[in-house]
Amino acid sequence: MTEGAPSPAPHLSPDDDRGDTDLGLRAVRHWVQARSTAPMLVLACPEHPDPADSARRCLPPAEWETAVVVRMPACLGTLPRAAAPEVLLDGAAGVTYLLDGCAEPDSTATSLADVLPLLASPDARTGVPALRVVASVPEAFDGDEPTPSLHVLDARSMPVPRRALLGAEAPAPEPTPTEDDAASTDHARLVTALAALAADPARGVPDVGVATGRPGPGLLLRAHGCTACGVCVRVCGEGALTLRVEDGASFLEQRVDRCSGSGECLDACPVDALSTRRRARWAEHLREGVLPLAVVDTHPCGRCGAPTPTHDDLCTVCAFRRANPFGSHLPPGAEALVRRARGI
Ligand code: SF4
Repeated sequence: MTEGAPSPAPHLSPDDDRGDTDLGLRAVRHWVQARSTAPMLVLACPEHPDPADSARRCLPPAEWETAVVVRMPACLGTLPRAAAPEVLLDGAAGVTYLLDGCAEPDSTATSLADVLPLLASPDARTGVPALRVVASVPEAFDGDEPTPSLHVLDARSMPVPRRALLGAEAPAPEPTPTEDDAASTDHARLVTALAALAADPARGVPDVGVATGRPGPGLLLRAHGCTACGVCVRVCGEGALTLRVEDGASFLEQRVDRCSGSGECLDACPVDALSTRRRARWAEHLREGVLPLAVVDTHPCGRCGAPTPTHDDLCTVCAFRRANPFGSHLPPGAEALVRRARGI
């Protein structure tokens, strides 16, 4: 099937079309899961003038037979960074992002910059690079292979599996670890999908050597002078920090794999206890690990019962309230929590 002269949808800005993108990605994932053979997915923006031609020019002839081009409903820059590892988990042989027809190729390429080196090496299962990002395509073919016809599908109307059309119940695809993670953060989805790929030693992606040496997005923290107030725990949108109270002590801990490197906790700490040791490496993101940051001897606050350093009667909030009974200022750390609640 060749492309039937679709009328390209207008390019939408990344802020307008996350919903379209999510629906399109879900449809593509379900379609890949229902396939008995592994397709080489080539993703293109809705405004790409001729993705089939670009795919023919940039893919090696050996991949033409399994290549399927999909027009996504919005700019590829709106796809979550987890999109490529998720469709690989679903069974795709590889994923190619066609950016030669993209209105914003630089921002899309930048969003994939840290994922691409991890997935650029061949997947041992399929022998093709797990992820390619193509910014420009060659003018002409090398070699004299006959020009193939490539399938071009629209992510808004992916084909229904043949079994379903005939009324037979399709076998339920194996759920992937990221299938129910639509509500997760972009970082959490990415790390979950990459870690699930890495758990299959036969695949060879993500590239272990790259993951071991390459800095990831997260930060390894240290905490000096922590008062166990818990502001950083509540302000972290990734759930990377926990405060555990046990036997008269509070333990502040960091889940390294969950840290996206936003630095919100550093800004929020009312006593500037947190600082950065170094960037986490991708290999540290891909395995669960807990980093102990601080142990504070605590007892319950005399007013609210919150863990409070033993040398203080009241926690910082209650101490602030007592000192400022009619004050209009927010207690230490509260500003960051208000900003987070308002999504600022
Ligand atoms: S915000 Fe600062 S003082 Fe409070 S628990 Fe976190 S590191 Fe400790």
